Amino acid sequence: MVEAHLVDKKATFASFSHILDARILRALADAGFARPTLVQVKAIPLGLEGRDILARARTGSGKTAAYCIPVVQKILSSKSTLAAEDENRQVTRALILVPTRELSEQVSTYLKGLLTYCEKDVTITNVASGTTSHLQRTLLSDKPDIVIATPSRALNMLQSKVLTLSFLETLVIDEADLILSYGHDEDVREIFNGGHLPKVHQSFLMSATMTEDVELLKGLTLRNPAILKLEEGED
Ligand code: ADP
Ligand code: MG
Repeated sequence: MVEAHLVDKKATFASFSHILDARILRALADAGFARPTLVQVKAIPLGLEGRDILARARTGSGKTAAYCIPVVQKILSSKSTLAAEDENRQVTRALILVPTRELSEQVSTYLKGLLTYCEKDVTITNVASGTTSHLQRTLLSDKPDIVIATPSRALNMLQSKVLTLSFLETLVIDEADLILSYGHDEDVREIFNGGHLPKVHQSFLMSATMTEDVELLKGLTLRNPAILKLEEGED
């Protein structure tokens, strides 16, 4: 559970019912999330307005849900406009880049909980763990809505053309302050500069600290971002 002083005491998740699907709200209630944290209360509405976001908030402040909720909501909204048999329905719409396999598993677990009531509508694949050949088959056959990956795995899948991001709507870099130092520097640059991403997409950069690496990623990925800086004791 999150520390009390990081929670917004005025807001509730129910007060987001005009922007969030009932299936998301139900899953949040099941998880015991009643009030959003300070970073969530800002990132969720701004994210759903389509803004690029740079969020700096300390470890334990709820950054995972701050990006997972808008990512899932955007996918539900996009798909609700398409007929069930529409061939453009099943494409990868979100890529979540994380520095380590361990974090990819935490994010997958969180997302699976969030998707409890819409698991048929929003599919996820974690390509950070598992054998390459199995993942290649999964990506080709399922075209999951959300792909979670380390940069090296993402690039490997892009270069072998089993992962296509032509329809990408949202890109997230979690632990942006750490991702380059985990040996992913070249891979991250190649993902951005290798022509793999569509020109128009929304990006979230999530970080516990502002570092030179985060500034570099900001320049590489964000356009006119909303900058959310949440200090302890702020607000
Ligand atoms: P961060 O990525 O900022 O370090 P996490 O997303 O890992 O933080 O969240 C830290 C913990 O707080 C997790 O156990 C998560 O389930 C919990 N948590 C996040 N948001 C809420 C919320 N709104 N209400 C209750 N618990 C929450
Ligand atoms: Mg985190």
